Amino acid sequence: MKRLLVMLLFVLSLVGCGKKEETKEVEEKKPEAIVELENKEVEINEEFINTSGIVKTENCELITTEEKVDTSSLGEKEITIVVKDLNNKEKNYSFKLNVIDTKAPVISGKSVINTTEGNKVNLLNGVSVSDNSKENIKATVDGKYDFNKAGTYKLQYVAKDSSGNESRKDFSLVVKEKPVVKSVEKTNNDNKEKSNSSSSSNTSSSKPINGTSSSLNGTKTSKGYTITVKNGITYINGIMIANKTYPLPKSYAPGGLTSATKNAANEMIAAAKKDGVDLYVASGFRSYDLQNRLWTNRKNKNGIAAADAGTARPGHSEHQTGLAFDMCGSGSGCISSTYHNSKGAKWMAANAYKYGLILRYPNGKQGITGYKYESWHFRYVGKDLASKLYNNGNWITLEEYFGVTSKYSY
Ligand SMILES: [Zn+2]
Repeated sequence: MKRLLVMLLFVLSLVGCGKKEETKEVEEKKPEAIVELENKEVEINEEFINTSGIVKTENCELITTEEKVDTSSLGEKEITIVVKDLNNKEKNYSFKLNVIDTKAPVISGKSVINTTEGNKVNLLNGVSVSDNSKENIKATVDGKYDFNKAGTYKLQYVAKDSSGNESRKDFSLVVKEKPVVKSVEKTNNDNKEKSNSSSSSNTSSSKPINGTSSSLNGTKTSKGYTITVKNGITYINGIMIANKTYPLPKSYAPGGLTSATKNAANEMIAAAKKDGVDLYVASGFRSYDLQNRLWTNRKNKNGIAAADAGTARPGHSEHQTGLAFDMCGSGSGCISSTYHNSKGAKWMAANAYKYGLILRYPNGKQGITGYKYESWHFRYVGKDLASKLYNNGNWITLEEYFGVTSKYSY
């Protein structure tokens, strides 16, 4: 029986081989996909984009969309990248992402604490500890002191995270001799210092956490359209609006591109392919939190004006709608001021409207949309509106069509 099975398998494999050879001869063999990935390390809770592990891709199209990887827990995880090779076959590749924690907590608190003999104070009052692990860490006090003995005590706050990263911060406890008269004033001073030392908050941009103010609901645009604000989300004629004037609430998170948007993108990719143009989605949905981190990082590095020039403030990015994406052409650069000269960008500018997509930030409309020309950024609005806005290649923006502005008010 066993032998029979082995024989059968052998025969089958022969048949298989024969077939393979045949097709090889008929079809011209296309070059293999080349995908090089490298393993990466990232600090806990630091931003990591899944495509950052890609060193090189050739002879294939990236299917995986750029998105943030959850880095909130320590340890190694596998990140899979999907590509489509020139034979239209999808293949998975993966690399390892190691989430580490090498950063020590940051302690903030007073550097001098004053009191008087016999007057105990809580040395941990006003002391706070933050850590990249987001753990709740309590500081402790290291060193010897005596509230009943005047003197200056050199002490340290100590904080340690669960990965063993420890930090220390020096402070002095000054215990003054008990004055012969009374010490009411002293106590007052203490309180003042306490309130001054509250750690500086890291508010990023302020406001639009709740989206557009409901007070705009029912108001008319300059073109006579009625603005509808529902749960902080702005709609005009059923079209969701997210720009510098009309933010989305923090809570609005479709989690990915909406299915209509995804279908439109796929239809466009397929049609372009027929014309010999390879396109792929480079960036789709972006959460409020991700946008907040992107913008805040840039603001901290280069200032508000520079951050605003290239990045939407949190709540104001159209990527948060799940209706917009950046579409790139394989092989040519993307998201650059010269991308519009590429084959892919030209094809999209001429054809996107057929799939219900609009070039959202056309050339020369920066004063209206609030954004420079982005030849890669497309927005789904449905075919009817898209062909109106296409306007035979002389794009009309959503702002112009509905009569609304796109300007930050804060
Ligand atoms: Zn974009």
